[in-house]
Amino acid sequence: MQNEKQALFNKRVVNDIKRRSSIGSLFYIPLFLAIVFSDNFYKRHTANCFRFGILIFSASVLRISYYSLFSKFVCEYNRFLDKIFFFISILFIGLAWGLCFAWVMVQPGESMAKMLVIICTIGVCAGGALAYIPSIPLSIAYNLAMLAPASISLLVLHINHPLVPTLLIVFSFYMFFIAFEGNGEYLQAFKNEQLLIDQSEELTVLARIDGLTGLYNRRYFDECMNREFKKASRLGVPLTVIIGDIDNFKILNDRHGHLAGDKFLKFTANLFRSVFRRDTDTVARFGGEEFIVLLSDTNSEDAFDLAEELRQRMSQMQIVFNGETLSATLSIGIACWHPDTQESRDSLISRADNALYQAKRLGRNQTVFSPPGSSPAPQSQ
Ligand code: GH3
Ligand code: MG
Ligand code: MG
Repeated sequence: MQNEKQALFNKRVVNDIKRRSSIGSLFYIPLFLAIVFSDNFYKRHTANCFRFGILIFSASVLRISYYSLFSKFVCEYNRFLDKIFFFISILFIGLAWGLCFAWVMVQPGESMAKMLVIICTIGVCAGGALAYIPSIPLSIAYNLAMLAPASISLLVLHINHPLVPTLLIVFSFYMFFIAFEGNGEYLQAFKNEQLLIDQSEELTVLARIDGLTGLYNRRYFDECMNREFKKASRLGVPLTVIIGDIDNFKILNDRHGHLAGDKFLKFTANLFRSVFRRDTDTVARFGGEEFIVLLSDTNSEDAFDLAEELRQRMSQMQIVFNGETLSATLSIGIACWHPDTQESRDSLISRADNALYQAKRLGRNQTVFSPPGSSPAPQSQ
């Protein structure tokens, strides 16, 4: 995984564990009480019940309060530190329970309390193994903290039947197996999710792009136009639309073929890109051999100069295709919008279109400018 994805994954692991394990932390105290109050166990072991009660209670409170009160602040300060503290709070309660489990198991007799503590420990361990699946080290460490003290004490002290510690060890290995299997599936699910996100981002980008020229397509231009129009109205800044149309492109197509025409369109698109370079300039293919540019916060003189530079460079552009030299000129219409005029978005585009039409009527290879507030010229032949 790349660094960025790895960081995202680490963050996700901690958040998922927090979410999955928040309920589980409430179980330890009632389970402990159920065990010690069964069969009057606490009356025979009052002092130790009290000590373990305090230990489990403190560990639970520490974990719940860290999770619900402090984790947010530590996380803001340092994510890694939050992960360490959170994992320690989990392991602390696991160990508190594991020690209590071992202590009950090494008591002579007390079969009722032993049976209950085994059932509860197995249940809590299994729950933990599932909840901590996002992190194998945590899952393993938690199960070791819960089961190792009892397994070791029982093996060393030979108090119960040897089958008891053996089964506990077998159960530990089963929990490790669940942790590994579950973690593999968790990782795969994360990768699949990322793949879907990447693909949908890729599709979003592709849906904005014109396949032939690589410029934005008309649909995306409309989105940009809406956004920029609102922004310009809010900030009270001018907006300029430039429409350029290749002159007599049909003749070039008919004479040299469609592929030559395509190549010419690609070079024209590059020319537009090289003239309108600012991040705030939006260049799109408006239709067949028509291109449109949206300039935010650009005054009319600058817009006109840029359009003239474009027109002149276009008239000098020569492209060789199959040994033949292709060239064409560009007619350009510019319309400038000013917030004082209250003009609509469509009217602005329509004025730019009409200015382009006038440029064609004036003999092509011209730039015609329509200043803010002027009414759209009629489109008559
Ligand atoms: P005018 O100077 O009035 O704009 O004349 P024109 O010939 O450029 O305009 P007209 O609308 O008559 O023809 C446009 C031509 O553009 C016709 C069409 O074949 C060509 N065209 C449109 N899209 C593409 C394309 O993607 N590739 C190619 N090769 N040609 C295209
Ligand atoms: Mg044309
Ligand atoms: Mg046209």
